[in-house]
Amino acid sequence: MKDLFATRTSRMKASEIRELLKLLDQPGIISFAGGIPDPALFPADGFAMAFQNALGAEFQAQALQYSVSEGYVPLREWLADHMRQIGIECELENILITSGSQQALDYLGKLYLSPGDTALVGWPTYLGALAAFNAYEPRFDRLSINGNRRAAKYAATAGEGAIKFAYLSPDFANPTGETVDLRGREALLDLADELNCAVIEDGAYQALRYDGEPIPPVLALELARKGSIENCRTIYCGSFSKTLSPGLRVGWVVAAKPVISQLVLMKQAADLHSATINQMAINEVARACFDTHIPMLRSVYGARRDAMLSALRDHMPEGVDWTKPEGGMFIWVTLPKGLKGADLLAKALETVKVAFVPGQAFFPDETGANTIRLSFSNSDEATIREGIRRLGEVLRT
Ligand code: PMP
Repeated sequence: MKDLFATRTSRMKASEIRELLKLLDQPGIISFAGGIPDPALFPADGFAMAFQNALGAEFQAQALQYSVSEGYVPLREWLADHMRQIGIECELENILITSGSQQALDYLGKLYLSPGDTALVGWPTYLGALAAFNAYEPRFDRLSINGNRRAAKYAATAGEGAIKFAYLSPDFANPTGETVDLRGREALLDLADELNCAVIEDGAYQALRYDGEPIPPVLALELARKGSIENCRTIYCGSFSKTLSPGLRVGWVVAAKPVISQLVLMKQAADLHSATINQMAINEVARACFDTHIPMLRSVYGARRDAMLSALRDHMPEGVDWTKPEGGMFIWVTLPKGLKGADLLAKALETVKVAFVPGQAFFPDETGANTIRLSFSNSDEATIREGIRRLGEVLRT
């Protein structure tokens, strides 16, 4: 039966993280595995009201009906304003609502990648981006940006497939938590101009900065250089998943109109449009509370990040290293060479009931066996301290 499947399926595999998450419903496990928001922080009352309103006499016909592929106009208006606030001047025609930003990544793979084309990605990078792009049978090459120098260094292994885009999450990346500084972003734009490729900017964690000064998005910097979004090669992918709710599956893309028009055609072919009622609810909740909700998230998640960093300092043995993120949900830990994240996970689950994600899956070539990703977003500070203490214990035995 499998011989009938298209060649693209040979590279599709179950996400280690999603498989792992299935095991974590057992009581007593301290999980730093899923990069998921704390459900206690969802603006649930706001959503209850928004859905009630959407289903009330005035809006129900619209809420339950088919709608346009581009997305719910009032939400796109709110987004145009939001993008302006982070330095990106655009029109409604530059915005497409997607079913989560994951859908945007899939469409962008479909838009740019013919089999054998090259996608430049971080090493490691977001696993879901690798999965989305993989379906289009690209080769992956390493995008390496050195923010301390004026140059972006591109380490190509061979010059085979055309380089179509560089994908990155410049703020508090998944899985490393690291941020690309201003010079790195400028250098990336120089590189993209030189290579004549697109830039896919994944802003999934952009709003979740806990300290340090915000750095303009790559698209904002390119706009400052080129005057109009229509001249820009950067495509910005946004998401409400980390700020309001991942379950409603609402994300967005901002790009030059020809890119958006192609993506709209893909959306028409794939799912016609994102759920109308979910877009209406997100619109109402974003308008009512985005500006107060985000500072609350920053303060709660920021304290959790601090708790995890200080517990790591207290409990990790010599030879273990980790990142110090200014935002987002993740800390990336490098274990001494020879120690495998997957082995540590098996041992930690069995002996002290602590879970995390081994880092290997985030590398296109599955190197990085001695790395792990810890998420601090979904545990309170006491649990974080206890989980890291236990992890230190396992590492010492
Ligand atoms: N990009 C990054 C970097 C992510 O971590 C995630 C979610 N884990 C996504 C995109 C996809 O998020 P969503 O589809 O829920 O918007």
